[in-house]
Amino acid sequence: MVHRSCISLPHILKHPGHFEHPISHTYFLGQDKFKLWECRICNLEDVNSNYGSYYCSDCEYAVHVICAIEEYNWYDFDESGIIDESLEENSALQPYSIIKEIKDGENVVAIEIKHFSHPHNLVLNNDVKDDKCCDACVLPISTSYHYCSQCNFFLHKSCAELPRKKHLSLHSHTKPHQLTSNRIFRCALCWNETNGFAYTCAECNICYCLRCASISDSLKYEGHEHLLSYQKYEGLCNACGQSLNYAFRCKRCNFSLGEDCLELPLKARHKSDVHHFTLTHHDNDYPKSHYCDICEEKRNLNYWFYHCAICDNSAHPKCVLEKYPFIKLGNIYTEEGHPHPLTFVQKVHYYPACQRCGKPCLDMALECKTIGCSYIVHWECIKPRF
Ligand SMILES: [Zn+2]
Ligand SMILES: [Zn+2]
Ligand SMILES: [Zn+2]
Ligand SMILES: [Zn+2]
Ligand SMILES: [Zn+2]
Ligand SMILES: [Zn+2]
Ligand SMILES: [Zn+2]
Ligand SMILES: [Zn+2]
Repeated sequence: MVHRSCISLPHILKHPGHFEHPISHTYFLGQDKFKLWECRICNLEDVNSNYGSYYCSDCEYAVHVICAIEEYNWYDFDESGIIDESLEENSALQPYSIIKEIKDGENVVAIEIKHFSHPHNLVLNNDVKDDKCCDACVLPISTSYHYCSQCNFFLHKSCAELPRKKHLSLHSHTKPHQLTSNRIFRCALCWNETNGFAYTCAECNICYCLRCASISDSLKYEGHEHLLSYQKYEGLCNACGQSLNYAFRCKRCNFSLGEDCLELPLKARHKSDVHHFTLTHHDNDYPKSHYCDICEEKRNLNYWFYHCAICDNSAHPKCVLEKYPFIKLGNIYTEEGHPHPLTFVQKVHYYPACQRCGKPCLDMALECKTIGCSYIVHWECIKPRF
């Protein structure tokens, strides 16, 4: 028997909880009929294929029909078939060519590459002890990386391997996004300004930072044992207490994260401490530090914070990250009107006056390093409108 109301179910849905592929209505889940499928919306019960379900075979993503109907307004009917421009042949996607490679047992390892984003060759380094920042994702480096021996340029090995074109699940246009570098932009999802790499939509020029481009509708968050799935949720973020409309959520544990908190870097720096801060989820070990060591205001002990174990400093995430956590210091910016290239700096000991507003450069600034030129301005005072 099939319910009358079920006959009118759309065959194919584009679901914001599963961005990558359309999901289709089916009575047959996968090959193995004894396998139990957990509903990725409610997480609670097995999907019983007798009543049908929505299913993506590429990702083994299955949800109850009832869960789909419950949030009916989410859906964008698409019965016309799937328009999807396929990615070009492999060579156009390769981000680098190999200059030198060595055999390491079974594997061949590229130890020197020419990456499309940089004019010089980059060398592989597995010896991670220095404090480097990746030019692609603008996060600290603590795994193998490629570097330029002439410039302050570094790429995580994994960032160097990112394809030049990629379909992004979070964006509705169907053309693949292009990997772009060498400019500063504001990410359309996290809203951070960054001089890292972007995935740019070929249709509308909207840019996403690499951290946002790696988000998918259901993902594993380090420290939580179950998958989190993106869904409509009106409630509070477990990490910061802010109210949310959408969340990455585990219904089983009633655990919800806003996208800001999901993307908090696991390690971060602040000028108040010579060491890295580590993102910390529970305050059990540090019950005495109820205050933020940066702003000196109270911290809510239920929420996530950054901690330096060596100095025992604890601080609010917003205090550690400040306004521009994803602008890489030391990178060059050309300001129209100034004849020399300017460098992103964050002054630590003395704060020269900004030549635009006259106030001291406590915040992110651009400084001219050309001998004989002492030009310095706040980034805030000269940045373009994004
Ligand atoms: Zn990176
Ligand atoms: Zn270089
Ligand atoms: Zn972003
Ligand atoms: Zn949050
Ligand atoms: Zn869970
Ligand atoms: Zn604080
Ligand atoms: Zn200024
Ligand atoms: Zn100058």
